[in-house]
Amino acid sequence: MKKPEWEKYKVGSPSKRRNWTEPGCEPFSTVRHIAHIHDAVRIIEDGMIRSSLVWDESRLKNSRTCVSWVSPNSWAHGSIYGNVSFEFDWETIVNDRDLYWVEDVKSYNPPAYRILITDKDYDSDESVVPYDETKPEGPLYWDGKTWYRNGHYTGEIMVDSDLSLRKCREIEFVGHHLRYCTKNGSSCPELGSSQYEAGTRIMANLIGRGLRRHRRLFLEKQNDELEFIPNTASILSKLIQDFTDEFEDTDVVVSGKNRNPLLKAALILYGEEHYDEAFSLSKLLGSKSAMKKSFRSILSKFFRLSPEQIDADLMPGRRSRSVD
Ligand SMILES: [Zn+2]
Repeated sequence: MKKPEWEKYKVGSPSKRRNWTEPGCEPFSTVRHIAHIHDAVRIIEDGMIRSSLVWDESRLKNSRTCVSWVSPNSWAHGSIYGNVSFEFDWETIVNDRDLYWVEDVKSYNPPAYRILITDKDYDSDESVVPYDETKPEGPLYWDGKTWYRNGHYTGEIMVDSDLSLRKCREIEFVGHHLRYCTKNGSSCPELGSSQYEAGTRIMANLIGRGLRRHRRLFLEKQNDELEFIPNTASILSKLIQDFTDEFEDTDVVVSGKNRNPLLKAALILYGEEHYDEAFSLSKLLGSKSAMKKSFRSILSKFFRLSPEQIDADLMPGRRSRSVD
């Protein structure tokens, strides 16, 4: 009998040493969907990752199966999927669904394995093969308590449903790989863009437009108090710093209640990469301190955090926060 395709991606044995994870058999509990900037904004507007037809050279390409993609991998040298990472608990995704082996992709470095997660019956579909996660014979293994993956390879999990952001744990910004992009190839405008370039654009767009329905994905609970996750705090600090660094005095100044709408308009321009126009417009606020006051007020309303907390977390010189 022919060996199953998944055998060469088989997990190793879990580590028995304390403080050491066996890369060939890494426990995991979260997965991520990573998207490019415009797609990420649309996901946040829609409140969900919409499943779509498989467009690359996949066995599922002609099957009309619509999938949402997630991966248990993290990307030390930049993600090949974009800059914006939506993190989910793996349990909420796998959730008693069935697994089917789809294929491997050897052109990836490292090669990728693809597994379909579904609550439909694909047993009669010849493009996929039922995959038993309870046997340590392929890249994903469940011992009844813990999920393991073979960390030497790229995992691409295809879920044949939409993924609601209600199940998402948090959004983080990551760097895009310098040379590789699975969506746009070598013409991707975001190749090599840092978490800061992408993160500041998205946050400026969301805050400028008041799209705050999923703000909790940028916050976490610490000692019963909500605060920014460190990644968001560093991105927002950078955004405020960009506007502060470019500030110059001007004679024409708006005052009072016109200030916040003006800064929001400048943020929308920034989000669309019209940086010069954004900074020119923000000068009409009159002074750096007036600009910081507007940031404080807008961010405080957007995230429902106190102005003092905005100061503590985001204004330079108050308190430093580190990012992974
Ligand atoms: Zn790209």
